[in-house]
Amino acid sequence: MSENKHKLTVRRVLWTVMLMALAAAVTYLLFGTSRKIRHLQQENSALLTQYTILSRRLDEAMDVMSDIQQRDDNLYRVLLMADPVSDKIRSAGYGGTNRYEALESLDDAGLVVNVTQKMDMLTKQLYLQSESFNQVVGFFKNHEDMLNHLPAIQPISNNDLKHTASGYGSRIDPVYGTVRFHFGMDFTCDIGTPVFATADGTVVSTDWEQGYGMTVEIDHGYGYRTRYCHLSSYRSRVGQKVKRGELIALSGSTGKSTGPHVHYEVVQRGQKVNPVNFYFMDLDAEHYEQIVRLAENHGRMLD
Ligand SMILES: [Zn+2]
Repeated sequence: MSENKHKLTVRRVLWTVMLMALAAAVTYLLFGTSRKIRHLQQENSALLTQYTILSRRLDEAMDVMSDIQQRDDNLYRVLLMADPVSDKIRSAGYGGTNRYEALESLDDAGLVVNVTQKMDMLTKQLYLQSESFNQVVGFFKNHEDMLNHLPAIQPISNNDLKHTASGYGSRIDPVYGTVRFHFGMDFTCDIGTPVFATADGTVVSTDWEQGYGMTVEIDHGYGYRTRYCHLSSYRSRVGQKVKRGELIALSGSTGKSTGPHVHYEVVQRGQKVNPVNFYFMDLDAEHYEQIVRLAENHGRMLD
């Protein structure tokens, strides 16, 4: 009887020890797992934040890319007299199979796929851009004379862009108050400010023109002409050969004008085009963007 009791006690102790060990093991496992899960959750959240930051930085990089493309296209239009790289080519993605399939099972697939797509797009655009610049460089080397004859600076000294008034496009007529297309770019300046030829060429006209007042027109060859209006004095004569940057007139407010300014036009094969694309020897990328903004935002022209 006492032996039985003794056996029971030993068994109970063993059981208790086993149960305690089991409980300890389960607790340890559960605790370890939850710690691991917590760690993974923290890591996941950090990765998500990082992806969001990357996505934003990629957007910024793509904005810069788009500026470069715009400038390149304008250079193309001007220099190569060719069409700019088409939007279709620039924005084409990767065709064929779904390259992002493997990513789509992720919880945050949208963000990850989006960042990957942006990176792919940027890589492709960088490659295209580099090819495009190679062509431009090649062109520059072979067309020095033509380059000298392309309008490429502003008609007055305007380094701080303070004189940039109204640009090319639909504007309110300063006299009649109606909407009208403005075919040139206005630069405000004091009467008597030196006006410069924006490229090499020959002066073909120094005359009063209806609305434009005293006007100088230069033929640059290669299909380009420039016109400088509302002047107060001519400093060049018909038939004179001029170099880029040479003084040709002084500014004024003659003709239909609401204040002293130079109205400047670039004519390409008979069409008045936007002069803002023809300052590339004067302005770096940053100033170029600035002048585009300034010229676009001014609703009021001086005529
Ligand atoms: Zn004007």
